[in-house]
Amino acid sequence: MPEKTDIVIVGGGTAGWMCAAALAAQGIAKLCRITLVEGQASHPAGAGYTTLPSIKAFHRLLGLDEADLLRQTLATFKLGTEFSGWSEFQAAYFHPFGSYGDKAGGLDFLQHWLRARGEGLAQPLEDYSYCIAASKRNRFDFPTKDPKSIASTYDYAYHLDADLYKECLKNLAVNCGVIRLQDWVDDTGRNSVNGNIERLMLKSGKTLKGDFFIDCSGSDAILIGESLGVGAVDCSHWLPCDRTIAISSSGGGLPPYTRVMAKAAGWQWKIPLQNSSNGYVYSSGVISDDEAANELHKSLDGNPVSAPLLSSFKSGYRETTWYKNCVAVGAAGACFDPLEPTGLYLVQAAITQLIRLFPGEGQGPMPAKEFNRHIEEEYTRIRDFLILHYHLASRTDSEIWRHCKEMVIPEALEQKITLFKKRGFLDVDAAGPFPVASWISVMTGQGIWPESTNPLRRNFPREELHKTLGGIRGAVNRSVENMSSHREFISQYLSKAAK
Ligand SMILES: Cc1cc2nc3c(=O)[nH]c(=O)nc-3n(C[C@H](O)[C@H](O)[C@H](O)COP(=O)(O)OP(=O)(O)OC[C@H]3O[C@@H](n4cnc5c(N)ncnc54)[C@H](O)[C@@H]3O)c2cc1C
Repeated sequence: MPEKTDIVIVGGGTAGWMCAAALAAQGIAKLCRITLVEGQASHPAGAGYTTLPSIKAFHRLLGLDEADLLRQTLATFKLGTEFSGWSEFQAAYFHPFGSYGDKAGGLDFLQHWLRARGEGLAQPLEDYSYCIAASKRNRFDFPTKDPKSIASTYDYAYHLDADLYKECLKNLAVNCGVIRLQDWVDDTGRNSVNGNIERLMLKSGKTLKGDFFIDCSGSDAILIGESLGVGAVDCSHWLPCDRTIAISSSGGGLPPYTRVMAKAAGWQWKIPLQNSSNGYVYSSGVISDDEAANELHKSLDGNPVSAPLLSSFKSGYRETTWYKNCVAVGAAGACFDPLEPTGLYLVQAAITQLIRLFPGEGQGPMPAKEFNRHIEEEYTRIRDFLILHYHLASRTDSEIWRHCKEMVIPEALEQKITLFKKRGFLDVDAAGPFPVASWISVMTGQGIWPESTNPLRRNFPREELHKTLGGIRGAVNRSVENMSSHREFISQYLSKAAK
């Protein structure tokens, strides 16, 4: 890299502005010139984004104050996701951002709970999750830092207005020195010896030179795909939905969680914002766009306040995400069925690794290799967690569900399911976005219960087991009773922050 490096970001969608804001916040804009070619205003996939708790670390990196974020993006808090219509065993289950119970006698809570269940001593597993108890009562508060308190056993994320979130990131980036260019990339010029991208030919007739390029051009993948010819790994045989329709509507309440409802052709979302964001993710092989729009309209809690927004996608990821002097971030790098909110998480993961491995002169291909190793692990972890939902679903009311039940799944996922079924044990990579409790919630929520458990659980005295479970449940209930409603909490928090 030369002394004054030119970094060029192509695409002014959420990924582009997340990259620009993060690089600028890290002071990289002082050492390098960062230019973002904005293209035309992109339509966010729906009016609302639902996120994972790790987004808070991204905002800390940006120096973005939480109350400012809430005000600027009309955000609400999120404790997890309620899934309905996925399982024949229960109408709905919850994927919480928090654990069930607590460890005791060196064993995971689940092991003790399974024993208690076998002995008729246990209440439903969800009763031991503080996060789920608060969600079901529409309550919210921040977790405490006291590890002895039940109120420390959860985390939270946000629901954000997608357009406003992008504006917020754009302002941060531009204020920190990022150059914004409203133009369109028509072609690229590459070095004839090493194949690196050297310049972009823009629609306006201008040429833009660069040393390092970040492709945030969404599914167009104009640099990584079109110019550099890096192919994509197709995951659509496991994740068959390929179309989405989104509408904002009035009403819908303000629960502190996202709702995801399985339907014959896919699934619908409801994201609680000031106006709720509603969407239908479906397989175009099962229903038409008109049928999907009708179904979505019928499910709205209030009146529509936006025109329906249609888009297509295909689940998959780049064979190589950092290739030559270009790294693909956002939908140019990977696009997964948005059943779990992994889009922004993957943008954040790519940015974190890019900052960690920022290329320097004479470093050769090592940073790219390490980046690709790390990001591929993220892709496969996420892919498998998403496949889990589809594969375990009890529905048989369309071809996609029948296919998903019968399909051959990745070997590592098959092993995870078998180990859980046989032993109640989950081998989950601590580095990924979905901890053990996430896997437990989907497996048990969709009807997989362990046939046997760890024999050491019998060492724990029966009376103590009874007392421990009762104690946890009591602490959950008492603590949740003292919380404010989600709506009250937001207004109190914002008025306190304004003083
Ligand atoms: C239905 C749906 C719902 C989703 N919901 C969530 C969610 O709730 N939470 C979450 O974390 N993730 C979600 N995702 C994933 C998330 O939306 C994406 O990861 C993210 O928005 C992708 O943003 P992007 O900037 O990569 O792409 P885009 O938003 O598509 O932006 C690409 C930009 O590149 C520009 N561009 C393209 N070609 C050129 C060119 N030649 N020259 C200049 N500019 C160009 C375009 O104009 C556009 O501005 C969802 C995805 C879908 C499909």
